[in-house]
Amino acid sequence: MELTNLNITELKKGYKENKFTPLDVVEAYLTRIKEIDNRVNSYLYVDEKGVLEIAKKMTGHGYPEAAAEKSQPLWGIPFSAKDLYLTRGLPTTAASKILENFVAPYESTVTKRLIDAGAILLGKTNLDEFAMGSSTESSAFKITHNPWDLDRVPGGSSGGSAASVAAGLAPFSLGTDTGGSIRQPASLCGVFGFKPTYGRVSRYGIMAMASSLDQAGPISSNARDSAAVLNVIAGRDARDATSSSKEVPDYTQFLGLDIKGLKIGLVKEFFAEGLDENVKKRIEEAIGLLEKAGAEFQEISIPKAKYGLSIYYILMMAEVSSNLARYDGVRYGFCKRDANLIEQYKKTRGQALGAEAKRRIMLGSYVLSAGYKDAYYNLAQKARTALRAEFEKVFSKVDILLGPVSPTPAFKIGEKMNDPVQMYLSDIYTVPINPAGLPAASVPCGFVERDGSKLPVSFQLIAPHFREDLIFQVAGNYEKLNPDSISKPNL
Ligand code: GLN
Repeated sequence: MELTNLNITELKKGYKENKFTPLDVVEAYLTRIKEIDNRVNSYLYVDEKGVLEIAKKMTGHGYPEAAAEKSQPLWGIPFSAKDLYLTRGLPTTAASKILENFVAPYESTVTKRLIDAGAILLGKTNLDEFAMGSSTESSAFKITHNPWDLDRVPGGSSGGSAASVAAGLAPFSLGTDTGGSIRQPASLCGVFGFKPTYGRVSRYGIMAMASSLDQAGPISSNARDSAAVLNVIAGRDARDATSSSKEVPDYTQFLGLDIKGLKIGLVKEFFAEGLDENVKKRIEEAIGLLEKAGAEFQEISIPKAKYGLSIYYILMMAEVSSNLARYDGVRYGFCKRDANLIEQYKKTRGQALGAEAKRRIMLGSYVLSAGYKDAYYNLAQKARTALRAEFEKVFSKVDILLGPVSPTPAFKIGEKMNDPVQMYLSDIYTVPINPAGLPAASVPCGFVERDGSKLPVSFQLIAPHFREDLIFQVAGNYEKLNPDSISKPNL
Protein backbone atom coordinates (compact mmCIF):
# COMPACT_ATOMS: atom_id res chain seq x y z
CA MET A 1 0.00 0.00 0.00
CA GLU A 2 1.33 3.40 -1.03
CA LEU A 3 0.69 5.59 2.03
CA THR A 4 0.93 8.82 0.04
CA ASN A 5 -2.02 7.69 -2.11
CA LEU A 6 -4.46 7.56 0.78
CA ASN A 7 -7.07 10.24 1.37
CA ILE A 8 -8.09 11.53 4.82
CA THR A 9 -10.84 8.95 5.32
CA GLU A 10 -8.46 6.11 4.39
CA LEU A 11 -5.70 7.42 6.62
CA LYS A 12 -8.11 7.68 9.56
CA LYS A 13 -9.31 4.13 9.00
CA GLY A 14 -5.73 2.83 8.82
CA TYR A 15 -4.80 4.53 12.11
CA LYS A 16 -7.87 3.17 13.81
CA GLU A 17 -7.12 -0.35 12.66
CA ASN A 18 -3.47 -0.04 13.58
CA LYS A 19 -2.31 -0.66 10.02
CA PHE A 20 0.31 2.10 10.18
CA THR A 21 1.37 4.99 12.41
CA PRO A 22 1.74 8.76 11.94
CA LEU A 23 5.50 8.18 11.80
CA ASP A 24 5.09 5.77 8.85
CA VAL A 25 2.91 8.29 7.04
CA VAL A 26 5.12 11.31 7.70
CA GLU A 27 8.23 9.37 6.65
CA ALA A 28 6.49 8.28 3.44
CA TYR A 29 5.67 11.91 2.63
CA LEU A 30 9.17 13.17 3.42
CA THR A 31 10.65 10.48 1.16
CA ARG A 32 8.29 11.30 -1.68
CA ILE A 33 8.94 15.04 -1.32
CA LYS A 34 12.68 14.33 -1.63
CA GLU A 35 12.11 12.16 -4.69
CA ILE A 36 9.60 14.25 -6.59
CA ASP A 37 9.54 17.84 -5.45
CA ASN A 38 12.77 18.82 -7.19
CA ARG A 39 10.69 18.49 -10.38
CA VAL A 40 7.41 19.98 -9.15
CA ASN A 41 8.79 22.66 -6.78
CA SER A 42 5.61 22.87 -4.74
CA TYR A 43 7.25 23.49 -1.35
CA LEU A 44 9.23 26.54 -0.28
CA TYR A 45 10.04 24.99 3.08
CA VAL A 46 9.70 21.51 4.56
CA ASP A 47 9.87 21.21 8.34
CA GLU A 48 11.53 17.80 8.30
CA LYS A 49 12.91 17.85 11.83
CA GLY A 50 9.77 19.30 13.37
CA VAL A 51 7.33 16.89 11.75
CA LEU A 52 9.41 13.82 12.57
CA GLU A 53 9.44 14.88 16.20
CA ILE A 54 5.67 15.38 16.29
CA ALA A 55 4.99 12.15 14.42
CA LYS A 56 7.23 10.18 16.80
CA LYS A 57 5.46 11.63 19.79
CA MET A 58 2.01 10.83 18.36
CA THR A 59 3.08 7.33 17.44
CA GLY A 60 4.42 6.82 20.96
CA HIS A 61 1.14 7.88 22.56
CA GLY A 62 -0.86 5.71 20.16
CA TYR A 63 -4.24 6.27 18.54
CA PRO A 64 -6.40 8.44 20.82
CA GLU A 65 -9.52 6.28 20.61
CA ALA A 66 -11.88 8.59 22.52
CA ALA A 67 -10.54 11.93 21.28
CA ALA A 68 -10.10 10.96 17.65
CA GLU A 69 -13.67 11.67 16.61
CA LYS A 70 -14.30 14.66 18.86
CA SER A 71 -11.36 16.92 19.57
CA GLN A 72 -8.78 15.37 17.24
CA PRO A 73 -10.63 14.43 14.05
CA LEU A 74 -7.48 15.00 11.95
CA TRP A 75 -5.11 13.06 14.22
CA GLY A 76 -1.96 12.15 12.29
CA ILE A 77 -3.09 13.71 8.98
CA PRO A 78 -0.25 15.65 7.32
CA PHE A 79 -0.93 18.84 5.34
CA SER A 80 0.81 21.68 3.56
CA ALA A 81 -0.05 25.38 3.80
CA LYS A 82 0.38 28.25 1.38
CA ASP A 83 3.25 30.40 2.61
CA LEU A 84 0.83 33.24 3.32
CA TYR A 85 -0.30 31.62 6.60
CA LEU A 86 1.69 32.67 9.64
CA THR A 87 3.14 29.56 11.26
CA ARG A 88 4.91 30.20 14.52
CA GLY A 89 8.65 29.56 14.41
CA LEU A 90 8.66 28.67 10.71
CA PRO A 91 9.73 30.79 7.74
CA THR A 92 6.73 32.69 6.35
CA THR A 93 7.58 34.64 3.22
CA ALA A 94 4.50 35.28 1.02
CA ALA A 95 7.01 34.28 -1.73
CA SER A 96 8.41 37.82 -1.51
CA LYS A 97 12.00 38.95 -1.12
CA ILE A 98 10.79 41.54 1.36
CA LEU A 99 10.00 38.70 3.82
CA GLU A 100 12.76 36.32 2.73
CA ASN A 101 14.13 35.77 6.22
CA PHE A 102 10.97 36.39 8.18
CA VAL A 103 9.99 33.84 10.83
CA ALA A 104 6.38 34.09 12.01
CA PRO A 105 6.04 35.11 15.67
CA TYR A 106 2.52 33.71 16.02
CA GLU A 107 0.18 31.13 14.51
CA SER A 108 -2.78 31.79 12.21
CA THR A 109 -6.15 30.69 13.59
CA VAL A 110 -6.66 28.21 10.75
CA THR A 111 -3.32 26.40 11.15
CA LYS A 112 -3.73 26.47 14.93
CA ARG A 113 -7.15 24.83 14.71
CA LEU A 114 -5.77 22.14 12.42
CA ILE A 115 -2.76 21.45 14.63
CA ASP A 116 -5.00 21.32 17.72
CA ALA A 117 -7.15 18.80 15.82
CA GLY A 118 -4.11 16.56 15.40
CA ALA A 119 -3.03 17.50 11.85
CA ILE A 120 0.71 17.71 11.10
CA LEU A 121 2.07 20.67 9.09
CA LEU A 122 4.65 19.28 6.66
CA GLY A 123 5.70 22.63 5.25
CA LYS A 124 4.91 25.80 3.37
CA THR A 125 4.01 25.94 -0.30
CA ASN A 126 4.89 28.30 -3.11
CA LEU A 127 2.56 31.06 -4.35
CA ASP A 128 2.50 34.16 -6.47
CA GLU A 129 4.14 36.96 -4.49
CA PHE A 130 1.60 38.09 -1.87
CA ALA A 131 -1.00 35.92 -3.68
CA MET A 132 -1.06 38.22 -6.72
CA GLY A 133 -1.28 36.15 -9.85
CA SER A 134 -2.78 33.14 -11.59
CA SER A 135 0.28 31.03 -12.36
CA THR A 136 2.63 31.07 -9.30
CA GLU A 137 5.26 32.53 -11.65
CA SER A 138 5.46 35.79 -9.69
CA SER A 139 7.02 33.98 -6.72
CA ALA A 140 10.37 35.57 -5.91
CA PHE A 141 11.89 32.15 -5.19
CA LYS A 142 10.90 29.41 -7.62
CA ILE A 143 8.60 28.33 -10.40
CA THR A 144 6.15 25.55 -9.55
CA HIS A 145 5.39 23.06 -12.30
CA ASN A 146 2.04 21.46 -13.05
CA PRO A 147 2.27 17.78 -12.02
CA TRP A 148 0.26 16.76 -15.14
CA ASP A 149 2.70 18.46 -17.50
CA LEU A 150 5.87 19.90 -16.06
CA ASP A 151 6.11 22.51 -18.85
CA ARG A 152 2.89 24.10 -17.68
CA VAL A 153 1.86 26.32 -14.76
CA PRO A 154 -0.08 24.91 -11.80
CA GLY A 155 -2.29 28.01 -11.75
CA GLY A 156 -2.22 30.50 -8.92
CA SER A 157 -1.88 32.01 -6.62
CA SER A 158 -2.12 28.87 -4.43
CA GLY A 159 -0.22 26.93 -7.12
CA GLY A 160 2.21 25.24 -4.72
CA SER A 161 -0.70 24.06 -2.58
CA ALA A 162 -2.65 22.58 -5.50
CA ALA A 163 0.48 21.01 -6.99
CA SER A 164 1.45 19.46 -3.64
CA VAL A 165 -1.90 17.68 -3.43
CA ALA A 166 -1.97 16.64 -7.11
CA ALA A 167 1.58 15.26 -6.90
CA GLY A 168 0.83 13.26 -3.74
CA LEU A 169 3.12 15.42 -1.59
CA ALA A 170 0.38 16.19 0.97
CA PRO A 171 -3.10 14.70 1.46
CA PHE A 172 -4.54 18.20 1.72
CA SER A 173 -3.38 21.78 1.64
CA LEU A 174 -4.51 25.24 2.68
CA GLY A 175 -4.94 27.94 0.09
CA THR A 176 -6.42 31.42 0.10
CA ASP A 177 -8.87 32.81 -2.43
CA THR A 178 -9.24 36.53 -3.12
CA GLY A 179 -10.37 36.18 -6.73
CA GLY A 180 -9.93 32.50 -7.53
CA SER A 181 -6.63 31.49 -5.98
CA ILE A 182 -7.99 28.26 -4.51
CA ARG A 183 -10.37 27.32 -7.34
CA GLN A 184 -8.24 28.10 -10.39
CA PRO A 185 -5.06 26.22 -9.35
CA ALA A 186 -7.18 23.33 -8.05
CA SER A 187 -8.80 23.21 -11.49
CA LEU A 188 -5.51 23.37 -13.40
CA CYS A 189 -4.05 20.60 -11.20
CA GLY A 190 -7.15 18.36 -11.18
CA VAL A 191 -7.90 18.48 -7.44
CA PHE A 192 -10.87 19.65 -5.36
CA GLY A 193 -10.66 23.27 -4.11
CA PHE A 194 -13.09 24.99 -1.79
CA LYS A 195 -13.60 28.71 -1.11
CA PRO A 196 -16.01 29.16 1.80
CA THR A 197 -18.42 32.08 2.27
CA TYR A 198 -16.62 35.31 3.21
CA GLY A 199 -16.59 35.22 7.02
CA ARG A 200 -16.99 31.44 7.35
CA VAL A 201 -13.27 31.00 8.16
CA SER A 202 -11.06 33.34 10.20
CA ARG A 203 -8.48 35.43 8.36
CA TYR A 204 -6.42 36.00 11.51
CA GLY A 205 -2.75 35.36 10.87
CA ILE A 206 -3.07 35.16 7.10
CA MET A 207 -1.23 37.95 5.30
CA ALA A 208 -3.87 40.27 3.89
CA MET A 209 -4.08 40.84 0.17
CA ALA A 210 -7.55 42.42 -0.17
CA SER A 211 -9.26 42.15 3.19
CA SER A 212 -12.84 42.44 1.96
CA LEU A 213 -12.31 39.57 -0.51
CA ASP A 214 -9.78 37.19 1.09
CA GLN A 215 -10.97 33.82 2.33
CA ALA A 216 -9.10 30.71 3.47
CA GLY A 217 -10.01 27.21 2.35
CA PRO A 218 -8.87 23.65 1.70
CA ILE A 219 -7.53 21.91 -1.40
CA SER A 220 -7.79 18.11 -1.35
CA SER A 221 -8.13 15.11 -3.62
CA ASN A 222 -11.88 14.80 -3.05
CA ALA A 223 -14.86 16.71 -1.67
CA ARG A 224 -15.19 14.67 1.53
CA ASP A 225 -11.67 15.56 2.63
CA SER A 226 -12.35 19.27 2.17
CA ALA A 227 -15.58 18.92 4.17
CA ALA A 228 -13.62 17.25 6.99
CA VAL A 229 -11.08 20.11 6.99
CA LEU A 230 -13.77 22.79 6.83
CA ASN A 231 -15.41 21.21 9.91
CA VAL A 232 -12.25 22.07 11.83
CA ILE A 233 -11.33 25.48 10.44
CA ALA A 234 -14.77 27.13 10.12
CA GLY A 235 -16.42 29.18 12.84
CA ARG A 236 -16.25 32.38 14.82
CA ASP A 237 -12.86 33.70 15.91
CA ALA A 238 -12.76 36.67 18.25
CA ARG A 239 -9.56 37.78 16.47
CA ASP A 240 -11.31 38.34 13.14
CA ALA A 241 -14.28 40.68 13.47
CA THR A 242 -15.59 39.62 10.05
CA SER A 243 -15.78 35.94 11.03
CA SER A 244 -19.32 34.65 11.44
CA SER A 245 -20.78 33.11 14.55
CA LYS A 246 -23.19 31.01 12.50
CA GLU A 247 -23.14 27.43 13.70
CA VAL A 248 -20.77 25.04 11.90
CA PRO A 249 -22.57 21.86 10.81
CA ASP A 250 -20.78 18.58 10.10
CA TYR A 251 -20.17 19.22 6.40
CA THR A 252 -19.41 15.56 5.65
CA GLN A 253 -23.04 14.61 6.30
CA PHE A 254 -24.19 16.38 3.10
CA LEU A 255 -22.11 14.35 0.66
CA GLY A 256 -24.50 11.43 0.64
CA LEU A 257 -27.78 13.37 0.18
CA ASP A 258 -29.37 12.86 -3.21
CA ILE A 259 -29.95 15.69 -5.69
CA LYS A 260 -33.38 14.78 -7.03
CA GLY A 261 -35.24 17.96 -7.84
CA LEU A 262 -32.32 20.22 -6.93
CA LYS A 263 -32.44 23.30 -9.14
CA ILE A 264 -29.10 24.13 -10.72
CA GLY A 265 -28.64 27.38 -12.64
CA LEU A 266 -26.31 27.71 -15.62
CA VAL A 267 -25.11 31.31 -15.81
CA LYS A 268 -25.41 32.30 -19.47
CA GLU A 269 -22.59 34.82 -19.16
CA PHE A 270 -20.18 32.09 -18.01
CA PHE A 271 -20.56 30.04 -21.19
CA ALA A 272 -19.61 32.83 -23.53
CA GLU A 273 -16.74 33.67 -25.85
CA GLY A 274 -13.28 32.67 -24.76
CA LEU A 275 -14.34 29.37 -23.19
CA ASP A 276 -12.26 26.56 -24.70
CA GLU A 277 -14.49 24.18 -26.70
CA ASN A 278 -13.10 21.05 -25.08
CA VAL A 279 -13.34 22.47 -21.57
CA LYS A 280 -16.97 23.27 -22.37
CA LYS A 281 -17.55 19.69 -23.55
CA ARG A 282 -16.31 18.20 -20.27
CA ILE A 283 -18.59 20.53 -18.33
CA GLU A 284 -21.56 19.62 -20.49
CA GLU A 285 -20.86 15.94 -19.82
CA ALA A 286 -20.85 16.66 -16.10
CA ILE A 287 -24.17 18.46 -16.46
CA GLY A 288 -25.54 15.39 -18.29
CA LEU A 289 -24.54 13.09 -15.42
CA LEU A 290 -26.06 15.33 -12.75
CA GLU A 291 -29.24 15.62 -14.81
CA LYS A 292 -29.54 11.83 -14.93
CA ALA A 293 -29.24 11.79 -11.15
CA GLY A 294 -32.30 14.02 -10.94
CA ALA A 295 -30.96 17.58 -10.84
CA GLU A 296 -32.99 20.12 -12.82
CA PHE A 297 -31.01 22.58 -14.89
CA GLN A 298 -32.11 25.96 -16.14
CA GLU A 299 -30.31 28.81 -17.83
CA ILE A 300 -30.21 32.03 -15.88
CA SER A 301 -28.59 35.39 -16.47
CA ILE A 302 -26.41 37.59 -14.30
CA PRO A 303 -25.88 40.55 -16.64
CA LYS A 304 -23.53 42.33 -14.25
CA ALA A 305 -21.17 39.34 -14.19
CA LYS A 306 -19.49 40.96 -17.17
CA TYR A 307 -18.32 43.73 -14.85
CA GLY A 308 -16.91 41.20 -12.38
CA LEU A 309 -13.35 41.46 -13.61
CA SER A 310 -13.37 45.28 -13.55
CA ILE A 311 -14.98 45.45 -10.13
CA TYR A 312 -12.51 42.95 -8.73
CA TYR A 313 -9.37 44.46 -10.23
CA ILE A 314 -10.25 47.96 -9.01
CA LEU A 315 -11.25 47.04 -5.46
CA MET A 316 -8.52 44.43 -5.02
CA MET A 317 -5.77 46.81 -6.14
CA ALA A 318 -7.08 49.59 -3.87
CA GLU A 319 -6.97 47.23 -0.88
CA VAL A 320 -3.58 45.82 -1.91
CA SER A 321 -2.06 49.31 -2.06
CA SER A 322 -3.19 49.90 1.50
CA ASN A 323 -2.37 46.44 2.93
CA LEU A 324 1.13 46.35 1.49
CA ALA A 325 2.05 49.70 3.02
CA ARG A 326 3.14 47.85 6.14
CA TYR A 327 6.13 46.28 4.35
CA ASP A 328 8.35 49.30 4.80
CA GLY A 329 11.52 47.65 6.11
CA VAL A 330 11.17 49.40 9.46
CA ARG A 331 9.06 46.94 11.39
CA TYR A 332 10.14 43.65 9.85
CA GLY A 333 11.55 42.05 6.74
CA PHE A 334 14.18 43.23 4.29
CA CYS A 335 15.57 46.74 4.81
CA LYS A 336 17.94 48.84 2.75
CA ARG A 337 19.20 51.32 5.34
CA ASP A 338 19.56 54.98 4.48
CA ALA A 339 20.03 58.10 6.61
CA ASN A 340 17.02 59.61 4.87
CA LEU A 341 13.79 57.79 5.78
CA ILE A 342 12.02 58.41 2.47
CA GLU A 343 15.07 57.13 0.61
CA GLN A 344 15.07 54.07 2.86
CA TYR A 345 11.43 53.31 2.01
CA LYS A 346 12.09 53.79 -1.67
CA LYS A 347 15.15 51.55 -1.75
CA THR A 348 13.62 48.86 0.45
CA ARG A 349 10.35 48.59 -1.46
CA GLY A 350 12.00 49.28 -4.82
CA GLN A 351 14.47 46.43 -4.41
CA ALA A 352 12.43 43.84 -2.55
CA LEU A 353 8.96 43.97 -4.11
CA GLY A 354 8.36 42.25 -7.45
CA ALA A 355 6.93 43.78 -10.63
CA GLU A 356 3.36 42.56 -10.10
CA ALA A 357 3.20 43.84 -6.52
CA LYS A 358 4.50 47.22 -7.64
CA ARG A 359 2.04 47.39 -10.53
CA ARG A 360 -0.86 46.74 -8.17
CA ILE A 361 0.33 49.20 -5.52
CA MET A 362 0.59 51.91 -8.17
CA LEU A 363 -2.76 51.15 -9.79
CA GLY A 364 -4.40 50.85 -6.38
CA SER A 365 -3.05 54.21 -5.28
CA TYR A 366 -4.29 55.69 -8.54
CA VAL A 367 -7.88 54.44 -8.20
CA LEU A 368 -7.95 55.84 -4.65
CA SER A 369 -6.38 59.20 -5.52
CA ALA A 370 -8.36 62.41 -4.98
CA GLY A 371 -9.22 63.11 -8.62
CA TYR A 372 -10.13 59.53 -9.56
CA LYS A 373 -11.72 57.98 -6.50
CA ASP A 374 -15.29 58.65 -7.63
CA ALA A 375 -14.67 57.43 -11.16
CA TYR A 376 -13.01 54.18 -10.10
CA TYR A 377 -13.09 53.08 -6.47
CA ASN A 378 -16.48 54.48 -5.48
CA LEU A 379 -18.09 53.37 -8.73
CA ALA A 380 -16.65 49.85 -8.31
CA GLN A 381 -18.09 49.71 -4.77
CA LYS A 382 -21.54 50.56 -6.11
CA ALA A 383 -21.19 48.01 -8.90
CA ARG A 384 -20.14 45.44 -6.30
CA THR A 385 -23.38 45.96 -4.39
CA ALA A 386 -25.38 45.67 -7.62
CA LEU A 387 -23.57 42.46 -8.63
CA ARG A 388 -24.17 40.94 -5.23
CA ALA A 389 -27.88 41.81 -5.50
CA GLU A 390 -28.11 40.05 -8.87
CA PHE A 391 -26.63 36.88 -7.40
CA GLU A 392 -29.07 37.06 -4.51
CA LYS A 393 -31.95 37.42 -6.94
CA VAL A 394 -31.06 34.32 -8.98
CA PHE A 395 -30.85 32.31 -5.79
CA SER A 396 -34.58 32.86 -5.37
CA LYS A 397 -35.02 30.85 -8.60
CA VAL A 398 -32.32 28.18 -8.32
CA ASP A 399 -30.57 26.44 -5.42
CA ILE A 400 -27.01 26.53 -6.75
CA LEU A 401 -25.05 27.62 -9.84
CA LEU A 402 -22.73 25.61 -12.07
CA GLY A 403 -20.19 26.88 -14.60
CA PRO A 404 -16.55 26.71 -15.66
CA VAL A 405 -13.65 27.56 -13.32
CA SER A 406 -11.06 28.55 -15.87
CA PRO A 407 -11.63 29.28 -19.57
CA THR A 408 -8.68 27.06 -20.58
CA PRO A 409 -6.67 24.17 -19.14
CA ALA A 410 -3.19 24.85 -17.72
CA PHE A 411 -1.15 27.14 -19.96
CA LYS A 412 2.58 26.96 -20.64
CA ILE A 413 5.13 28.44 -18.25
CA GLY A 414 6.03 31.90 -19.57
CA GLU A 415 3.03 32.11 -21.89
CA LYS A 416 1.22 34.97 -20.14
CA MET A 417 3.94 36.52 -18.00
CA ASN A 418 4.47 39.50 -20.30
CA ASP A 419 0.80 40.23 -20.77
CA PRO A 420 -0.88 41.05 -17.46
CA VAL A 421 -4.31 41.53 -19.07
CA GLN A 422 -4.24 37.99 -20.54
CA MET A 423 -3.26 36.73 -17.10
CA TYR A 424 -6.13 38.65 -15.45
CA LEU A 425 -8.56 37.23 -18.04
CA SER A 426 -7.85 33.68 -16.88
CA ASP A 427 -9.79 34.62 -13.71
CA ILE A 428 -12.89 35.73 -15.55
CA TYR A 429 -15.21 33.09 -14.02
CA THR A 430 -13.77 33.07 -10.51
CA VAL A 431 -13.36 36.76 -9.62
CA PRO A 432 -17.05 37.79 -9.68
CA ILE A 433 -17.69 35.41 -6.78
CA ASN A 434 -15.46 37.16 -4.24
CA PRO A 435 -17.03 40.64 -4.37
CA ALA A 436 -20.34 38.82 -3.80
CA GLY A 437 -18.83 36.90 -0.85
CA LEU A 438 -20.31 33.57 -2.00
CA PRO A 439 -18.99 30.05 -1.32
CA ALA A 440 -17.70 28.20 -4.40
CA ALA A 441 -15.73 25.10 -5.30
CA SER A 442 -13.74 23.64 -8.12
CA VAL A 443 -14.71 20.03 -8.91
CA PRO A 444 -12.51 17.95 -11.27
CA CYS A 445 -14.54 16.54 -14.19
CA GLY A 446 -12.18 14.94 -16.69
CA PHE A 447 -9.37 15.77 -19.06
CA VAL A 448 -8.54 17.37 -22.38
CA GLU A 449 -5.59 16.63 -24.66
CA ARG A 450 -3.17 19.44 -25.39
CA ASP A 451 0.13 18.91 -27.28
CA GLY A 452 0.18 15.26 -26.24
CA SER A 453 -0.51 16.01 -22.57
CA LYS A 454 -3.56 15.02 -20.60
CA LEU A 455 -4.73 18.14 -18.72
CA PRO A 456 -7.44 18.26 -16.06
CA VAL A 457 -10.65 20.31 -16.28
CA SER A 458 -13.07 21.26 -13.48
CA PHE A 459 -16.50 22.75 -13.09
CA GLN A 460 -17.37 25.39 -10.53
CA LEU A 461 -20.26 25.27 -8.06
CA ILE A 462 -21.46 28.53 -6.53
CA ALA A 463 -23.94 28.55 -3.64
CA PRO A 464 -25.82 31.19 -1.63
CA HIS A 465 -24.13 32.64 1.46
CA PHE A 466 -23.42 29.99 4.09
CA ARG A 467 -24.86 27.18 1.94
CA GLU A 468 -21.58 25.25 1.76
CA ASP A 469 -23.75 22.18 2.39
CA LEU A 470 -25.25 22.40 -1.14
CA ILE A 471 -21.82 22.43 -2.73
CA PHE A 472 -20.79 19.29 -0.85
CA GLN A 473 -24.09 17.65 -1.72
CA VAL A 474 -23.65 18.20 -5.48
CA ALA A 475 -19.91 17.46 -5.48
CA GLY A 476 -20.43 14.28 -3.44
CA ASN A 477 -23.01 13.05 -5.96
CA TYR A 478 -20.83 13.93 -8.91
CA GLU A 479 -17.81 12.05 -7.54
CA LYS A 480 -19.97 8.96 -7.13
CA LEU A 481 -21.32 9.29 -10.68
CA ASN A 482 -17.84 9.75 -12.16
CA PRO A 483 -15.25 8.13 -9.86
CA ASP A 484 -12.60 8.43 -12.60
CA SER A 485 -12.70 12.20 -12.11
CA ILE A 486 -10.46 11.65 -9.08
CA SER A 487 -7.06 10.61 -10.35
CA LYS A 488 -3.40 11.44 -9.96
CA PRO A 489 -0.64 11.98 -12.53
CA ASN A 490 2.25 9.51 -12.91
CA LEU A 491 5.35 11.14 -11.54
N1 GLN B 1 -5.48 35.60 -9.82
C1 GLN B 1 -6.17 36.63 -9.11
C2 GLN B 1 -5.29 37.82 -8.94
O1 GLN B 1 -4.27 37.84 -9.52
C3 GLN B 1 -6.65 36.09 -7.79
C4 GLN B 1 -5.61 36.06 -6.75
C5 GLN B 1 -6.10 35.50 -5.46
O2 GLN B 1 -7.22 34.99 -5.38
N2 GLN B 1 -5.27 35.62 -4.44
O3 GLN B 1 -5.59 38.74 -8.26
